[in-house]
Amino acid sequence: MADLNDDIRRAKGVGTRWAQLLSDDLDVHTYEDMLQQYPYKYVDRSHIYAVRDITCDMAYVQLHGSFISMNMVGEGSHRRLTAVFTDGTGAIEIVWFKGLEYVRNTIKTSEEYYLFGKPTVFGNRINIVHPELEKGDATISNAGTLQAVYNTSERMKKAGLNSKAVQKIILNIFAELQSKPIAETLPQYLIDRCHLMPRGEALRIMHTPPSLQVVENARYRLKFEELFYIQLKMLRTYSQKRMQQSGYLFATSGAYLNDFYKNHLPFEPTNAQKRVVHEIYNDLHSGKQMNRLLQGDVGSGKTMVALMAMLIAKGNGFQACMMAPTEILATQHYESLTKMLDGMPVRVELLTGSTKQRERRVILADLLSGAVDILVGTHALVEETVQFARLGLAVVDEQHRFGVAQRAKLWSKGAVPPHILVMTATPIPRTLAMTVYGDLDVSVIDELPPGRKAVMTEHYFHEKRNNLNRFIRAQLASGRQVYVVYPLIEESERSDFKNLTEGFEYMKSAFPEYKVCMVHGRLKPDEKDEAMRQFVENEAQIMVATTVIEVGVNVPNASVMVIESAERFGLSQLHQLRGRVGRGADQSYCILMTDYKLSTDTRRRMEIMVGTTNGFEIAEADMRLRGPGSIEGTQQSGLPFNLHVADLARDGQIVQYTRDIAQEIIKSDPTLSAPENVIMLHRLNYLEKNALNWSLIS
Ligand code: ADP
Ligand code: MG
Repeated sequence: MADLNDDIRRAKGVGTRWAQLLSDDLDVHTYEDMLQQYPYKYVDRSHIYAVRDITCDMAYVQLHGSFISMNMVGEGSHRRLTAVFTDGTGAIEIVWFKGLEYVRNTIKTSEEYYLFGKPTVFGNRINIVHPELEKGDATISNAGTLQAVYNTSERMKKAGLNSKAVQKIILNIFAELQSKPIAETLPQYLIDRCHLMPRGEALRIMHTPPSLQVVENARYRLKFEELFYIQLKMLRTYSQKRMQQSGYLFATSGAYLNDFYKNHLPFEPTNAQKRVVHEIYNDLHSGKQMNRLLQGDVGSGKTMVALMAMLIAKGNGFQACMMAPTEILATQHYESLTKMLDGMPVRVELLTGSTKQRERRVILADLLSGAVDILVGTHALVEETVQFARLGLAVVDEQHRFGVAQRAKLWSKGAVPPHILVMTATPIPRTLAMTVYGDLDVSVIDELPPGRKAVMTEHYFHEKRNNLNRFIRAQLASGRQVYVVYPLIEESERSDFKNLTEGFEYMKSAFPEYKVCMVHGRLKPDEKDEAMRQFVENEAQIMVATTVIEVGVNVPNASVMVIESAERFGLSQLHQLRGRVGRGADQSYCILMTDYKLSTDTRRRMEIMVGTTNGFEIAEADMRLRGPGSIEGTQQSGLPFNLHVADLARDGQIVQYTRDIAQEIIKSDPTLSAPENVIMLHRLNYLEKNALNWSLIS
């Protein structure tokens, strides 16, 4: 008897070759995988129109009739194929601009066709361009129904495995399963409570829909299920971790935080900073290990929040460390922490790859004796030689540069794992954070310190370079500094590098009265540091660089960020780069330079950058434009199970809804062992096993 778990090779009509293609290109291995290949659209074939009723404002229409003539017309790029199609009530012109020979050779004037397309006006006449065609006597005619259209790869199409073939396999599977109802995967009480369609019905409707309206209900049910199981998995993992993972109990906020708050505050914290410190304190005070992600746009003041958390550790007799992805950034953190702690009895040390041996030995010894309170550094901190007397809190800045494995190394630095605060300036849309970081708690600083002027962003075409230079000259004359950033990606490294060095020479010749420095990944560390130093100390006024400056550098006097070939950067990267300016009190500017000719997508990206400085809006837009996988820092975490129908960018509400429900369930039955919940436990185990199996194979 057939079963959803059956190997796709068993399905009627699937030979070895197709099975291989299905596995390679669609990740389909079982009947169930096949049924989860949902159509990406439906074309309405429930009505056949008469040609004489066609008007140019109609949406897609279906006609039935035959071609009476075909003609190649025009020359060169205007060459096209036109045909006249008739059904006895009238005639309409059909036009092709591509694949002319192929179309001319396959269409037969002796045959009847179903023709499907959108009427438009071209040369004062109504016609239809590039219609879909199906012979009138086709074996699976979709005439009279909604026709499902499936995604297929080029390779699949070449092997005859096109949308129709996919549909046929799916129909065969349904026929084979007929005697056996498709098992439910959600408990009945959820189906009732959330008004969900039964699973078997939803699957059938997706592939053979009676109406578009019903498809929406089916789709909702299937989206719900996908998102629900991801949330359930995340929350179960989270609750298991919490149950096992006891952490250090920080009983009080402590004398050091109080002293800092009363006597050393460099500025009044924003409400968002205060709220986040509270959230952190609640974790530290709970007796469980903290695993918190702190999101805050560049310049939102994460450093002070981290400092306050570290002071709570100190006040409870613990050490803390703060890890940054680059030496420059670690040094800047060290400097701003020491400055904020000026006059307080708290010892901060810096440990990086270039710390001198002797100094290093002293720091390590004092760390082990407990004399060092806060250690700032690069990933050198996770090395085994670095041992703390009592590490209570680890802060990790710019999360996406660190792998999960590195975080885990930090954990193992004591018998009891330290509390972990991960900070990132890459804003991740809430629904995505909830999903990929579902096992972390998330805090957000959604407010910038007062008095910040939003960076003004403009989009220039290369033709306006003279205007740009005039503008740069004026900024330099008033004492400001300027960044010029070039893309450098591995695939085209050679030509990119040439652009960079030419840009450097160009800036030197265009601004001879100023010093220009250059920073890129090929420099030796000390050369790079020297160039950075020159810019930080305003010995150099212009810095030409690749994206190495993206991470965290703080030069408040720099007020102009010019991004060359801006079309080659993603939205979040553009946003990160822009965050390098606007750190001082002056009005700052970001100039996006591009060619005149741009794709619609690029144009949209430029508009978004010009239109908003809000990192979350940009991240949402990025996710909509490029899909959730594009958001930096989320790839390595990934999703526990694949999504086939749900979309994290568009289905935010369902993400939230299913999360709330999953939370409720896990709270009342963490092991999912109540009789009415066991069905979910089985489904989770099944999904986990499958995810694992296929990841081992592929
Ligand atoms: P990020 O979140 O990018 O790490 P930082 O912690 O570096 O931001 O803070 C950016 C700048 O804003 C620093 O110069 C910092 O001193 C300043 N700052 C932080 N919080 C406040 C505040 N509440 N009021 C005024 N300035 C602040
Ligand atoms: Mg920072």
